[in-house]
Order: sequence, then C-alpha cells, then structure tokens
Amino acid sequence: LYDYIVVGAGTAGNVIATRLTEDPQVSVLLLEAGVSNVDAFNTTVPLLAPTLSVPGSRYDWNYAISPQPGLSGRSFPYPRGKLLGGSSSVNYMTYSHGSSDDWNRFAQVTEDDGWKWDNMKRYIYKNEKLVPPTDGHNTTGQFEPRKHGFYGTLRDSLPGFPTPLDERIIRTTKQLPNEFPYIGDTSGGDILGIGWKLSTIANGTRSSSVTDYLNLAIDRPNLDIVINAHVTKLLNTALSGHIPIFRSVQFTENEEAQVRTAIAKKEVILCAGSFGTPMILQRSGIGERVALESLGIETIIDKRSVGRNLSDHVGRTTIYSVLSNDTFDDILRSPDKFQVELSNWTQNKTGPLGAALSNHVGWLRLPQNSSIFETVPDPAAGLRSSHFEFLFSSYYTGSPIPPSRHFMSVRANLISPTSRGSVSISSSNPFANPIINPNYLNTSFDIFALVEAVKTARRFINSDSWIGFVEEEYGSSEDAKTDAEIEKLIRDTAGSVFHAVGTAAMSSKNARWGVVDPSLLVKGANGLRIVDASVLPFVPNAHTQGPVYLLAERAADLIKNK
Ligand code: FAD
Repeated sequence: LYDYIVVGAGTAGNVIATRLTEDPQVSVLLLEAGVSNVDAFNTTVPLLAPTLSVPGSRYDWNYAISPQPGLSGRSFPYPRGKLLGGSSSVNYMTYSHGSSDDWNRFAQVTEDDGWKWDNMKRYIYKNEKLVPPTDGHNTTGQFEPRKHGFYGTLRDSLPGFPTPLDERIIRTTKQLPNEFPYIGDTSGGDILGIGWKLSTIANGTRSSSVTDYLNLAIDRPNLDIVINAHVTKLLNTALSGHIPIFRSVQFTENEEAQVRTAIAKKEVILCAGSFGTPMILQRSGIGERVALESLGIETIIDKRSVGRNLSDHVGRTTIYSVLSNDTFDDILRSPDKFQVELSNWTQNKTGPLGAALSNHVGWLRLPQNSSIFETVPDPAAGLRSSHFEFLFSSYYTGSPIPPSRHFMSVRANLISPTSRGSVSISSSNPFANPIINPNYLNTSFDIFALVEAVKTARRFINSDSWIGFVEEEYGSSEDAKTDAEIEKLIRDTAGSVFHAVGTAAMSSKNARWGVVDPSLLVKGANGLRIVDASVLPFVPNAHTQGPVYLLAERAADLIKNK
C-alpha cells in the first residue's frame, strides 16, 4: 500500500515522483512499462537522438498514425519514449516554455489563475538549471538571464558546437529585421523573432527527467520503482457517494505474465503521456460509452472527451545543398569520421556528437492582413504568439543522407493548428496498438499557414546572407512554385514534430468538455489525477517538454498542498 501510485516514469511522472518523495513520510510507487535508461548509450549522445526512435526501437512504443487525408493518405511511425525518462530520454532536446499567451489561455479556459504565465514563471526557476554551453563560448546577447533558472533541477544550455549557419542566420535578422526580427531570448513569455535555441544538454550530454530528477530520488526508501510494468487498467473498487473511486492499478510485465495489483491510499496519478493516459482511461471504463461498448468494455464514467482534442505540430523540411564541408553530413555518413568523433565525445564530451540538432529557432506570425483572416478567426494564443516556427540544422535531416555533397535543413512547423484529432484503443487487449489520428492539415487555416511558412522560409534563405553558401534547394521540391504546388508538396512530404497534447484536456470545473478539472483531477472520479502532456488543452508555442515540466512542477505543489 502506497500513498501515491504514479503511472509512467516519463517527463512528468519523474517530476511528480521526485517531488512527492521529498517528504520522507510520503510513499510512492512508480510504474514504468519500458526498460531502464542505464544501458541506453544513445540516449546520452545528443546527435544520436534520432536513432532512438527508428522503427523497432526497444526504447519506443512503435506506434504509427492512421492514414492522413490531409497528408495525401500517408501514415507513418509516431515515436513515444518507452523507458525511464519517457519521451524526455528520446526527444530532440529543444527546451522552451511557451508564450505568455499560451499560459494565460490555459488560465482562461480553466478559470484558474494559477495557470497564468505570471504564476507559472516561478516554476521555470524550479525546473531549469541553465549551465554554460559545452564549448564555453561567450553567450552575451544570446539569452536574457532574467528569463532563466540557474538553480533549478534540469540542466540546459545554449548551443555547444558552432555551425556555418549561425552567423548567416543572425545576419539575415539584421538585414531583414521587419520580417525576421532578432530576439535576444527565444525560451518563453515573449517569443516572437529568431534567436538562439536552448537544449536540455549539459556538458555535451542529454539531460532528462531521469538523469536530472529521478536520479535524485532513486535511493529514497519511500520510493519504489518498477520497470517493465505495463499498466493494463485501473480498477473501480468502491463508490464515494455516487462517485467511483479509482485507487487500484493493475500491471503486468507482458501478455503471458501474471497481473499484479497495487493500491494507493491517496491517489493514482496518471503520467503515461498523450497516448498512454487516454488508453488507460478507456481500458478502465472511462471514455465514450458507445466506443467502449463496441469493444466489450463496461462504461464506468461516460466521458466523450477522453482521447479527443488531439492537437499537434506538423511541418515540412526544405533541404538545401551548401558549399561548405563543415556540416554534420560527413560524420553521419562516414563510419571512419563517426568513430573519430565518437571517441572524441567519449573522452571529452566535445565535438559535433554533443551538439544540439539545431542552434536557432524562430517563432513567427502571419501578417495581420493575410487573406485567411477574412474568413477564419486568428487561432494564435494571442498577439504575442506565433503561427509558425523555423528550425535550422546543419546537415541532411532526412534519411538516408545522399553519398556526396553537404546540406542544411530548414524546418517550417505550423504552431497554431486548428485541426483536432483523436486517439483511441483498438481493442480491450492492453497490448494492442491504439488508433492515432492527428487529422493533420484538415482545415483551411492550417494548410494556408503552412504554405505561407514554407514560402517565408524560402525568402529567408534566398536573402543576401546566404549567397555563396547555399547552392540550391535540393531534390525536386524547388519545382513547387505556386501556392497549389507548394500545398501539394506539403501534403506529400510534411511530418509530425511529435508534440501531441490535449487528449485528456483540463477545463473549468463546470465545463461539459474536458477530462480533468483545473487541479488535474479526473472529473466524475475519486482518487485519480492526470499530470502529463494530455491535459494541455492547446498545443503551446513551444516544444512540449518545457511546458510539461512546468505543468508537473505546479501539479506537484497542488498535490503537496491539497
Ligand atoms: P512521456 O515523457 O512520453 O512519458 C510517458 C511515460 O509513460 C513513458 O515513460 C511511457 O513508457 C509510460 N507509459 C505509457 N503507457 C504506460 C502504461 N500503460 N504503463 C506504464 N507506463 C506507461 N519536446 C521538446 O520540448 N523538445 C524536443 O526537441 C522534442 N523532440 C521530440 C522528439 C521525439 C522523437 C519525441 C517522441 C518527442 C519530442 N518532444 C520534444 C516532445 C516531448 O518529449 C513530449 O511532449 C514530452 O516529453 C511528453 O511528456 P509526458 O510526460 O506527457 O510523456
């Protein structure tokens, strides 16, 4: 019997387990379906991050999305970390907190001022421990100290390895400041502009919720951690008045192994992520009655919102061949060069293998007079929030890398999508994969904004600063010139940024939609809370790990102070 059972040792789960066990009187059981991170070498080497989610990876759930009408009928893998640290152990480490508008909108829809940016800012100081970049370069002007935590828990840093893109990106912001303003800090609050990007990297090595949170708590006698513990369902054991109590958790190592049950005295806290959490709810009889009945699952709480409102970032990468040998392409395609850099990294933690996947990020808006706003209300979180994002990488980010030439990649991501998708279990078998339908580019706004983003990225690269460096847009994509041709190019080639949120959204106490209340307690249930990306009702102006860390820090306070 534990005070709390935390389901999922991922980004949020490890924050919760670590914070709750700071009190030696509180006991916690942390259940994780995946394996340990200890022998997962590639989780430590930043430039190897993409290898962690290749199809078949033992560190991944190996899910795929359903065929997407908005993406020319394509379907593709959708990674989610399945090991200690969850997605924070496999993600691409970009670290940002969202715009002030994002958090103010969360406060508005939940009618809880505690989610306002002015309140949430304090959790940056608890979460973040900004350390010097790996290469020790002078970072003056690349960040604003007042926007950062230096004494928090999770280490992050500015880029630790220079690329030939860096100076040209900054020069473009100076030459075209109206369209591409420079921003002295891209991490959160005021975000609009292009500037230096932060990553959860310290001393050339990934920092995650396991390396920087759970490892602090791992030896505490009041914390038990079980890996290979796949939670199959929650049991409704009793009623409190008319309200079903869910304090009992069933888990098993695999389909053949014995099912075990654990009971929480106070709460079960679901931290299984935007797909895992709604799947556990649905298997436990919390979901839309018709859908559950069709799978032979008894409905305990009829809640249509479970698994709906899936919102995600989608984008397209444009690749350019460049006249420079200083990109990462040679290291990634030549085993000899890779070995040299690997031993350099192993000995000193320096060099390109410890580099961030991109050194700069831009958060940008469509012009106010864009034709789309004649028919569609502006879906951005506010006037200080973006519609699209740029990321710049100094290598060929596709696969496989062509055998010769050197490349840079410019990613344009839609940040304020209006399309909404869903995730649902496909069977009552807890080991069956879900049906994930993000419904990408299903609205006129979304495709308009992404077409404009791709055109804007081209304007950026076609500016003077890139003359003599960029050779050409690579592949046949440069043939797409008209809006219709660019739309087709996007629908044929765009991919996910893996930022799914919203599938167990928080809403105001009396709202009829949503799954959890502003304190993240499941509406209509007793003893059950959700703390992970699934509760964010809108996808923020951020890569989502930062907002999840802030959310989890506040949730830990809510639980401790209740
Ligand atoms: P997770 O961290 O995924 O944690 C969920 C945990 O629950 C996992 O450990 C999982 O194994 C476990 N679990 C699930 N179901 C069960 C079950 N039934 N029983 C037991 N345990 C279970 N964000 C950024 O900010 N920057 C980036 O650069 C970035 N890049 C990304 C790249 C990739 C490839 C991916 C996959 C994601 C990326 N993201 C990035 C997104 C970000 O990592 C996630 O939004 C965030 O980590 C989600 O946190 P979470 O706590 O909600 O879920």
